[in-house]
Amino acid sequence: MSVQIGPFFYIKNKLIHNTCSLEKGRRQADKLDNSYSHEQLWDDHIRFGEYIDYPRGRVVWDITNNRAIIYIDRCINKPEIISKIKVTFELQNYTVAYDDHYRCRNCVE
Ligand SMILES: [Zn+2]
Repeated sequence: MSVQIGPFFYIKNKLIHNTCSLEKGRRQADKLDNSYSHEQLWDDHIRFGEYIDYPRGRVVWDITNNRAIIYIDRCINKPEIISKIKVTFELQNYTVAYDDHYRCRNCVE
């Protein structure tokens, strides 16, 4: 069991993601983050339309509280999707949060 962190999209019932271990995470204040961007993930796996149009999120590690934070778009905050993220990123302790960075076109409008 080792926790992973990184960005993801959820498109057509598929979780498209990039993960790295906490050891390889980049520290910013009291968080560990994967330096891989949504732009890179988009270029590597998707390449249709524009990435800002699609539901997305990011798993980061909260050092102070010793748990993961799943930042997620409101439109994909659903139990079955959270459960997929939990398995993929090997999470045990986590909390779910919203952030302005992770809002698809529908959620912004
Ligand atoms: Zn949305």
